[in-house]
Formats: sequence, C-alpha cells, structure tokens
Amino acid sequence: MSAILKIDNLVKRFGGLTATDHVSLEVMPHEIHALIGPNGAGKSTLINQLCGELRSNAGTIHLAGRDVTNLSVPDRVALGLGRTFQITSLLDEVTVRENIGMAVQVREGGNFRIWDAARRRHAVWVETDALLVPSQLADRAEIRVADLSHGEKKQLELLVAMAMRPQLLLLDEPMAGLGHLESQQMIGLLRRVREDAAILLVEHDMEAVFALADRVSVLVYGRIIAQGRVEEIRNDPAVREAYLGAEDELC
Ligand code: ADP
Ligand code: MG
Repeated sequence: MSAILKIDNLVKRFGGLTATDHVSLEVMPHEIHALIGPNGAGKSTLINQLCGELRSNAGTIHLAGRDVTNLSVPDRVALGLGRTFQITSLLDEVTVRENIGMAVQVREGGNFRIWDAARRRHAVWVETDALLVPSQLADRAEIRVADLSHGEKKQLELLVAMAMRPQLLLLDEPMAGLGHLESQQMIGLLRRVREDAAILLVEHDMEAVFALADRVSVLVYGRIIAQGRVEEIRNDPAVREAYLGAEDELC
C-alpha cells in the first residue's frame, strides 16, 4: 500500500527561526495520523506548507504519488487535498443543507452540465443528505448557520470539506473550543470520515488523539522527536523527557 501523503525533509524558515526543520512523515490510506507538540512547535506551519498557503524552503510533498511541492492551493485541492477553514468560511445566512449543497456544486463544476436543471438539483441534494447522515446535523439541515452552536459549526465545516471528496484531510485542532459531549460527537464523526479520507490531525485534546490516531508524530521546536503507534508514543522516553513526564501537557 502506498502513502496518500509523503513528506520528505520539509523546511520552513521565518527569518532566523526554523519553524519546521526537516520534517518527514507519511499518511497511509484511511489512516489517522496525529501531529502533536507544544505551542510554537510548528504544527500549523506544517499544515500551511501542506495545503500550499506557505512555500517551503526545502523538502518535498507527494500527494497520492504526485509531487505537489510547487503546486498552488487550488491545484492541490484538485488532486484530493482537503482542509477545514475557520468558521468564517461558512455562509451564516444560508442553511446547513445549502452550505453543503454549494460545496457539492463547486466540486462538480461543469460535470453536471450535461444534465437538465431538475436532475442536477436532485443529484446535489441526494449527495448533500448522504453527507449529513453520520453527523449530528441531519435533523438540523434547514437551520441557518448563524443559529448553530459552535460544535455544530465545527461539524458542518468538516462536512463542507468532505463535499469536495478529498483523499487527505488536514485538520488543525478540530476539537478546539468543544465541550465534552461535542468532542465525543466529533470523534464519532471523524471515525466515519476516515472511511472516505485519510486524516492528518493536529490536536491538543489527547483523549481525542489516543481515541482516534493510528500513528502519532511528535514535533518539538520544528523537529519530529518521535513517531510511532499510539502505545509506543505514550511510553517513549524521549517524548516523556520532552514533556517532563507530564502526560496532560502532551498537546
Ligand atoms: P504551533 O501550531 O505548533 O503552535 P506554529 O506553526 O504556529 O506552531 O508556529 C511555529 C513557530 O513559527 C512559532 O515560533 C511562531 O511564532 C513562528 N511563526 C509562525 N508563523 C509565522 C509567520 N508567519 N511569521 C513569523 N513567524 C511565524
Ligand atoms: Mg497551531
């Protein structure tokens, strides 16, 4: 089985600061690969390098076997890269269903044009409703986004990203700001999402990381100091030393 994402020796410098320092990792199909590390470790920088918002100083990025290192954001999206954005990417005044439906239409672009308008609409709504099923939003489809809770908006962002049918999803702290129940619901949704896409998950919530991840990479000062299965990372002496043994500070 070959990797969906393969990063080799990726580097990003901001002036004299090396934010990511020869980072290498792979994400396999359907894998949830968690990236953890203290604040300022370079996690968000790496995500931005991967999605193409930041150009790298060195290293390569392969997506499903293709070198995307020098491609634009839209070209990477077209090749199967998905990510969630901040809440502002949702349209507040339209409904949950319409937000997802628009993303489905954007993805299809011209493809639906061979059909008449009625069939086109039907295809969009069938797919939209299917996307809603594994979430807590199926019964909230006609609610305006502005009236959703924070947790519901986080779920909707994920569904909008999935409407683009990515092969790999980049998630930067999807649990941020969620209460316990909302986190549990997000964990359930991510378990469903992984059936359709591999996930690179940056997350502070260690309960979520240990519940979801197949493998974990630990980033400290821009460098990967440990990489392995969840059980290995939990017991890794270098990881424990980096965090002075305080597991609840692993983030
Ligand atoms: P994390 O997401 O792990 O908390 P970041 O990737 O946000 O870490 O930041 C890594 C380091 O790079 C930090 O020291 C941060 O201050 C620095 N940094 C991030 N983005 C920029 C930028 N655009 N310009 C300069 N320094 C940056
Ligand atoms: Mg960050």
